[in-house]
Amino acid sequence: MPTARFAPSPTGPLHLGHAHAAIFAAHAAEPGGRFLVRIEDIDGARCRPEFATAILDDLAWLGLDWERPERVQSEHMAEYRAALARLDAMGLLYPCFCTRADIAREIGRSGAAPHGTDGPIYPGICRALPEAEARRRMDSGEGFALRLRADAATARSGPLAWRDEEAGEVTVDAAAFGDVVLARKDTPASYHLCVALDDALQGVELVTRGRDLFTATSVHRLLQALLALPVPRWHHHDLLTDAKGKRLAKRDRAATLAALRAAGKSPAAVRALAGFPD
Ligand code: GLU
Repeated sequence: MPTARFAPSPTGPLHLGHAHAAIFAAHAAEPGGRFLVRIEDIDGARCRPEFATAILDDLAWLGLDWERPERVQSEHMAEYRAALARLDAMGLLYPCFCTRADIAREIGRSGAAPHGTDGPIYPGICRALPEAEARRRMDSGEGFALRLRADAATARSGPLAWRDEEAGEVTVDAAAFGDVVLARKDTPASYHLCVALDDALQGVELVTRGRDLFTATSVHRLLQALLALPVPRWHHHDLLTDAKGKRLAKRDRAATLAALRAAGKSPAAVRALAGFPD
């Protein structure tokens, strides 16, 4: 069986939706595969070590067993920076100085607002900034993000596809995500870059995660091609919903594992609530 992983971001307590994703990943590695847990804590402003500790405690309480030690992304920033430098050397990155408001204004003006993996697709305001001006603004301390030149990147990679266990073959279409952010001034690597790199470094063969990240997978497939990384298979699963069919969110306190544990539920009862009756 393959190597699979659960990769939570420690931005809050684990809830039933996460438990579903974690058990789904653990089952994907059974029997005889490797099950890994990775702490995705690159966003220092939103992640907290105490949430990471609580997440691991909840996973063990649920009865899951994974290979130790867990990979903790914040301990590997130099590796992400090196990958970013490789993409930069290929001429595939550009600095973007836009605030959310700048982007919203431009989208409002042009009237077109197709949605990508991380919100509205970037309308390309900074794509053609002269290099000298970009350098001057970076040197003056202005905040910026590094974006991928999606068109140039796909031209370099050639046609790409990836395989989902349920959806089958999916063709990568750069227009579906556009010039995604790969780094920010304060966060030297984005989710997309770290996930693509870590899944390869950790030998993950089957990436399982919720359908909300389906479009993001095409970005990861493109990064794998650019960085010559091995290509896993993917299985995007349904997201757990509440009784009204609404997706569970971090704010649904009653659905946190901490609340369920405090209410006296057993691990088997919580596994069943997460969609995995014994
Ligand atoms: N860290 C991401 C999250 O918590 C999941 C990443 C992944 O499974 O690829 O949403």
